[in-house]
Amino acid sequence: MTSSFSNLSLAEPLARAVAEMGYETMTPIQEQAIPVVLQGRDVMGAAQTGTGKTAAFALPLLQRMMKHENASTSPARHPVRALVLLPTRELAVQVAEQVKLYAKYTNLNSAVVFGGMDMKPQTAELKKGVEVLVATPGRLLDHIEAKNAVLNQVEYVVLDEADRMLDIGFLPDLQRILSYLPKQRITLLFSATFSPEIKRLASSYLQDPVTIEVARSNATASTVEQHFYSVGADDKRRALHQILKARDLKQAFVFVNSKLGCARLARSLEREGLKTTALHGDKSQDERLKALDSFKSGEVDLLVCTDVAARGLDIKDVPAVFNFDVPFNAEDYVHRIGRTGRAGASGLAVSFVASSDQRLVADIEKLIKTKIELEPMEFEEDRPRISEQGRINDGRRMYREGENAVMATPREARQPRERREYTPHRQPVVSRDPFFDQPYEPSATADAQPAWEAAVKASSARGAVSANIKPKKKVAALFKTGS
Ligand code: AMP
Repeated sequence: MTSSFSNLSLAEPLARAVAEMGYETMTPIQEQAIPVVLQGRDVMGAAQTGTGKTAAFALPLLQRMMKHENASTSPARHPVRALVLLPTRELAVQVAEQVKLYAKYTNLNSAVVFGGMDMKPQTAELKKGVEVLVATPGRLLDHIEAKNAVLNQVEYVVLDEADRMLDIGFLPDLQRILSYLPKQRITLLFSATFSPEIKRLASSYLQDPVTIEVARSNATASTVEQHFYSVGADDKRRALHQILKARDLKQAFVFVNSKLGCARLARSLEREGLKTTALHGDKSQDERLKALDSFKSGEVDLLVCTDVAARGLDIKDVPAVFNFDVPFNAEDYVHRIGRTGRAGASGLAVSFVASSDQRLVADIEKLIKTKIELEPMEFEEDRPRISEQGRINDGRRMYREGENAVMATPREARQPRERREYTPHRQPVVSRDPFFDQPYEPSATADAQPAWEAAVKASSARGAVSANIKPKKKVAALFKTGS
């Protein structure tokens, strides 16, 4: 049974903020973690962003801090009491925004500090006094060294996306930061996986933690329609154009495996007439925030990104996710496609599989415990023209469909590939966070015609058939090779 926030007896200002955000029932992580944190226990939580994890730790921490709440303007009366550490700037901004909303009716202040930006405005914020400090580890250390952040009154520490912090190599920074904090404190650690390194971190810094696990990391939402197309590297862009157009997609995430590939692909797509922006680790902080904003506001249609840059970003209900490259790590497949089909909305996840990706696809298959059918990618412009006689020389019959003629077997003619059930997601789901719901409002400035309508017309002048494409032949045998 899911419980309501009203059962929690939150302080009135917090309850008011929660009600204003439209939250009614708690998510599973909230249901399990909030009472435990309220009791003052350490927590080791396996939960990903998108599960309501931020409120699961922020609300009980704010509730516990309410006893210190005061209206004084003296910074000394607002020492840092809760420290939330995150691996990336975007995640830090996102969590800080949520904390601000939950604390909106209280006198508890919050701030966020992250690298790649001038330290001065952050210093000014810190000097005003903040009870909740959200930070990335490197920049926090800079502020500690500059004596802008004093952490000797910290009572609560949250290590969020801890596995990613270790992946990035933040362990020494974390150890240093933790050494500055009072030993007597509550520590909450959240991670997508409990690897041996995470367990070691937990055993060093957590005391008798309660373990909470929600939504296994290998679960993919049943509302996501998943396709794996066999496409040669040179045809992937063309395939992307075609699917965007055929599905009438308004926006999409396009994942690639490398920073260099990310920048290159974004440039090519932009040249081909698609409104595209790139998000990867080599971009300056300012550029990354701009990229995100332009996607959220609907100014751009495609966000080309790498896993690290996009991890955990709370952009909900993207109509489609493309794996331009199959991810090296099967778990990243689950994270990537978790951005579409959220909250029961239908979503589309398309992966372009090159012949060298067989092992990676087999890993995904194993992780999601679902048989993956590799489909051949057929290009519109490669379809043979209908002959006067209605027959073509390979013996298959042509079926007329309105204006379009497609080559098809009789079964496919009844249910052509492009016409499979799919309702593009146009209505935003119940609005919880208007900022993140923005992109899916039709953009006031956007042309009525998506950019790819025009771009596909231009690109369809090309007609070469990829060597990889064997029309109409199922390639499921790929996984039976036993290699
Ligand atoms: P998080 O996993 O914390 O990043 O949260 C993902 C999104 O879910 C955020 O936009 C939150 O505002 C939203 N959210 C969190 N808890 C709830 C809830 N109980 N009901 C509805 N939406 C929620």
